[in-house]
Amino acid sequence: MTDSPEDQKHPDIHAAEGRAERRHPGDSLTPPIFQTATFAFDSSADLAAFHSGESGAYFYSRYGNPTLAAAESRLSRLEGGEASIMYASGMAAVSSVLWALLAPDARLVLLGETYRHTRDFAETLLSRYKVNVEFLEENSLDALKRVEEGPVRVLFTEIPSNPTMRVPDINRLAEWTAERRARLVVDSTIASPVLLRPLEHGAHLVVHSATKFLSGHNDLLAGAVSGPRAMIDALVEQQALLGAVLSPHTAYLLDRGMKTLQVRVERQSQTALRLAEFLSGCKQVKCVHYPGLESHPDHSTARKLMSAFGGLLSFELNGGAEAADRLVDALRIPVLAPGFGGTESQVEHHARMAYADMGLEGAKARGVPPGLIRYSVGLEDFERLRDDLTEGFRKI
Ligand code: PLP
Repeated sequence: MTDSPEDQKHPDIHAAEGRAERRHPGDSLTPPIFQTATFAFDSSADLAAFHSGESGAYFYSRYGNPTLAAAESRLSRLEGGEASIMYASGMAAVSSVLWALLAPDARLVLLGETYRHTRDFAETLLSRYKVNVEFLEENSLDALKRVEEGPVRVLFTEIPSNPTMRVPDINRLAEWTAERRARLVVDSTIASPVLLRPLEHGAHLVVHSATKFLSGHNDLLAGAVSGPRAMIDALVEQQALLGAVLSPHTAYLLDRGMKTLQVRVERQSQTALRLAEFLSGCKQVKCVHYPGLESHPDHSTARKLMSAFGGLLSFELNGGAEAADRLVDALRIPVLAPGFGGTESQVEHHARMAYADMGLEGAKARGVPPGLIRYSVGLEDFERLRDDLTEGFRKI
């Protein structure tokens, strides 16, 4: 069933499948898990029909699988993209896109803070293949002005960025990439399509760690990319060679998670905003990074672009690293764990969790101050999370 133009403008994530699309084998209401490595053919003629593209059948799960196709089509509807592809992890999605778009001597510009391992991938592996990698330490349009003239192949950015939630104006980034004839790739893991749909603002591809909000239950690893059919087809061909496919079972869980994406993200955003406001008034807190706050440098851009401000926030403590260590130990509700976007609230002293190998100084050099706490808001009641923080502050 195809969406009407009105449906496309206002995608209703609760109704991501139409009645006709729910026709599954055995009249199963939900998409079955095709837990199979390979698909079988009735005859050589059947095989020939497959190869001619007439039958629409499947061949081998590294080249495609109906359970993955169900999840991919749901994501395409959510992102407003022509097509999507799933990967075994977010890093598989990030690295595959960058491998696909770049080549020796091509220039990659990474805008501002990016997920640490995206930067590590570019700095180590891409540089080894002679890609010119440029990091702009700040996630702002001003930083882009400092990029030297000359062709750029890819501008890669996270919106919002992790962990200080910068929200550069994506429309302006799209203009910049158009002027440079570059490709704009947006890692939209933190926003999810509930809050921002980068393709509508001129991004060429949108990338996700589907491990986070898309799946939403802290129970799987997955990555995803959405965009124009021709670009996704090229990634499908590449994936058949690189092999980082998602398993059908995980694709089923991801698809299931995406059915509740909207309600989860709306609720997490409401709670996160209230927590950010609460934290701003606490004497132990030096500053709060949350685009829903007027004090955030990108508040007006975020208001313009995003329907709400998301379930992730970070804050710095006056007491520095020691106070942060004590606070994460004192909190009783959020789990001390890496990652974000799930139903359970999670907390971390970011430098200690994500940059342990570099130490506090190394983290600082990467723009992560000691004492920065990242807090991923789950589905618990605001009052419980607030009281837990109040109690935690008493102990630091
Ligand atoms: N992109 C962002 C913004 C992330 O936060 C992460 C992981 O935390 C990734 C990509 C990598 O995703 P994964 O852990 O699923 O490989």
